[in-house]
Formats: sequence, structure tokens, C-alpha cells
Amino acid sequence: MKKCFLFYLISFSFLITNAQTLQPIEQKLIKKIEEHYPAMVDLLKNSVNINSGTFNIAGVKAVGQLYSKELEKLGFTIEWINMPDSVKRAGHLVATRKGNKGKKLLLLGHLDTVFEPDMPSNPFTVLNDSTITGQGINDMKGGDVIIIAAMKAMHELNLLNNATITIYMTGDEENAGEPRSLTRGDFIERSKQHDVVLAFEGAAGFNTIATARRGASSWELTVEGKQGHSSGVFGAAGYGAIYEAARIVNSFRETLSKEQYLTFNPGIFIGGSEVNANFEKQRGDASGKTNIISPKTLVNGDLRFLT
Ligand SMILES: [Zn+2]
Repeated sequence: MKKCFLFYLISFSFLITNAQTLQPIEQKLIKKIEEHYPAMVDLLKNSVNINSGTFNIAGVKAVGQLYSKELEKLGFTIEWINMPDSVKRAGHLVATRKGNKGKKLLLLGHLDTVFEPDMPSNPFTVLNDSTITGQGINDMKGGDVIIIAAMKAMHELNLLNNATITIYMTGDEENAGEPRSLTRGDFIERSKQHDVVLAFEGAAGFNTIATARRGASSWELTVEGKQGHSSGVFGAAGYGAIYEAARIVNSFRETLSKEQYLTFNPGIFIGGSEVNANFEKQRGDASGKTNIISPKTLVNGDLRFLT
């Protein structure tokens, strides 16, 4: 995800305070995770300190290699899904264990970040006992390392035996290469062969799971009215395009703003006598006179929805 917060909080306090209510095997898992904690923080540090901006192909591959080495030790078979040079992306890391016990899991991460090598560096830095900052630590090398930490603890307690688990870490999540059929085809195909997909990118705070994600789209509204003198705007001349566009946008807000998980926002609203817009470039201009009823109004907005 493009939204990136440069801090990542690591806390096991929730797990520890609830240890009394956990099954014995879960308590053993927590003990293992605590044992491995310093090594996993080192792994996080090493991966954060490799620049892996989406277009830094060598960097993305280096992070992939670092994680591969860990996963190989846990009995995973490693594959690298290569992309042709024309795609200008590093490819993806796929680690698999196959078995016939339980549900088939696909665990999802990504290796790239939004930070390219020409941006100011922000190495792994411990701020205090629960906060670390660094490039891509929250989005999402922290999540990647959580996958590895969980697998390592389970492997050592023989809980991975005969399980089907695929770990899929894409190399271009922040800016997917084209064509998508090539850069996402293998991922979609494999996802269909699993029962459950869990993504490890941070959602809304601690100890929560997002079970759905809103889609995003955009819309344009074009309103044309009769040009006329302002003195007749409430009479025979008619309201013109600006009033009408405002009425439409506001009606949608009044009718649908309480709809759960739905938002839409007019981001650009241009009206007047002469109107030009280039919504691709998110800009436009207008000219008009206060005593002329606007003949044209253009509005561009976004739309976010769950279904
Ligand atoms: Zn992300």
C-alpha cells in the first residue's frame, strides 16, 4: 500500500497477558516466538537496511534472498517468479510446503517499498523500547518477518508437518508491472488453489484483522445549462450549470452519505462560462462573469466501496 507510516510497533504484551487462557501448544508457541525475538528483530533490521524500492530490482531480489534463506531452513521449497526485462520489475518470491492436513493457507507479503534509492535514506533506528523507524518497516517488512517468525516457531514444534502453506511475497506491490496478466497471473492462479489467504500488511492498529478492503474508483459529472443574465437565474433563464451540479452532488451526499463503507468525494469542481479540465492530470481552469449564468460545470471525484 502506498500509505506508509514510518514506524512499526512490536508488542507481545497482548499475547502475554492472555497466556493463561491459551492452549498449552499455543503457550509453547509464544515461548518459541519470544526465544527467537532478538534474531527476528535482526532479520527485520537487515531487510529494512536493504533499499528495495519497486524499481530497484537488485534490492528487491536481495530482500527476497534474505527471506528465502530463512524459509528454506524451515522446510519450504523456494521459487523465484521471474519477469521479462520489459516489465522492469524484480519478480516474486514463492515458498511452499505441501501436505494433506488441514486447510491450505496462502500467506501474503511484499518485498518492495515506495522508497527508491534516490530518496533520503532512513535506516533501521530504535526510538524506544517499543518503536522502531525505518524505510518500509511498517509497509511491510515487519509483516513479512512476522510470517517468518510464526513459521519458525511452528516448525520447531513440528506443527508444519504435512501442512500446505504457500508464502507469496510480491516484488511490485507498490506499483504493479504491466501487463497484469503476467505480473499477477501466477499469484491469482495459486491463490485459487488455497482455502484461506492471510495478508500480513498492517491494517487498523493492533490486534485487529481486516476481513475486507474497499475498492476505489472515480467519477466525472458534466452539467450543461443555458447561458443567460444573472438577473433571471430564479426565473425564466433557469438555474444554470453550477447550481445544477451543486444540487446533484449534494443530493448524492444527502441520499447516500449514511451508507456503510461507502464514500465519494468531489475533488475538483469547475464551473463558469468557459471551462477546461484535464482530470487525468487533476487540473483545469475556468473563466466567467458574476452576472452570467454558467453554461457548463465539470466535477471529478473518487468513490470507495465494499461491494
Ligand atoms: Zn504495502
